[in-house]
Amino acid sequence: MSGFYRKKPVVIEAAQWFKNGDHPRDFASERDGFENDELRTWTGDEARALGWEGEIVRYFRDPDVPGDRECEHCKAHMHWHGWTDTPEGGHIVCPGDWIITGVKGEIYPCKPDIFEATYEPAEESADA
Ligand SMILES: [Zn+2]
Repeated sequence: MSGFYRKKPVVIEAAQWFKNGDHPRDFASERDGFENDELRTWTGDEARALGWEGEIVRYFRDPDVPGDRECEHCKAHMHWHGWTDTPEGGHIVCPGDWIITGVKGEIYPCKPDIFEATYEPAEESADA
């Protein structure tokens, strides 16, 4: 088979990320941790109120990259960046990047200019 093909339109979920906690599922689940040497569970809302790290977009941490270094892409300090797991591995998130949840639940960041050129608002997918 050969010829010309066009991608079928797919509906994805996306959220623009600017700072820790911006992703709608960052505090969607309970967290276990120690308080006064005792294991307890915090709700997502408690974790958010305590300013904990988001679950989908975590803090950017790299021992070899100083937090006050300017990002080569967005010029913001690295300290203000996030980090998310994609099918290809961990990926940095610049403030303003869109976080896309793909059809199989996979997460990947997308630069705002690419996002605007590629996506437009849609109705929720019928089979979602
Ligand atoms: Zn950046």
